Amino acid sequence: MSEDKLKIDRIHKGTVIDHINAGYALTILSLTGLDESPDLMTIGVNVYSKKHGKKDIIKIEGVFLNEIQMQKISILSPNASISLIDNYKVIEKKKVSIPRIIKKLIVCVNKTCISNSELASGGREPIDYEFTVLEERPLKIQCVYCDRIYKLDEITFASKEKTEKKLKQKIQL
Ligand SMILES: [Zn+2]
Repeated sequence: MSEDKLKIDRIHKGTVIDHINAGYALTILSLTGLDESPDLMTIGVNVYSKKHGKKDIIKIEGVFLNEIQMQKISILSPNASISLIDNYKVIEKKKVSIPRIIKKLIVCVNKTCISNSELASGGREPIDYEFTVLEERPLKIQCVYCDRIYKLDEITFASKEKTEKKLKQKIQL
């Protein structure tokens, strides 16, 4: 089966996320909440690609990604490309891009960090987590409050419990 065929096959209207770093498709599905889509979804894990060696690919019927989902994908797989499909044709293709500042999506696990302190905000709204992206490949981000630096396999996404469990499983591999 050619790569092009694999990409578009059977998607009538929806999204193809291609060139995902090998082994990250399931984590991406979980973190973006796409795993809860009731529609047809095809997932390729460790698909052989001439250009990139192994990669993962996700095809989802009836779904278009929002900005937050795109950001999460960019953090986990900066080489990912997103194709929007309508009537079996690619109507738009874009690369994900990592924002220079990542807000709210990732948790600083440093317990003494001010972003984890209720006192700092006077017991009112907690401070939003915020990270500066120091390097994209490999990913290196820094908490703007405590300066702690995180690599990709050290980050914890601010997300539902189920997702965090899955991410931990992934990291242990
Ligand atoms: Zn921090």
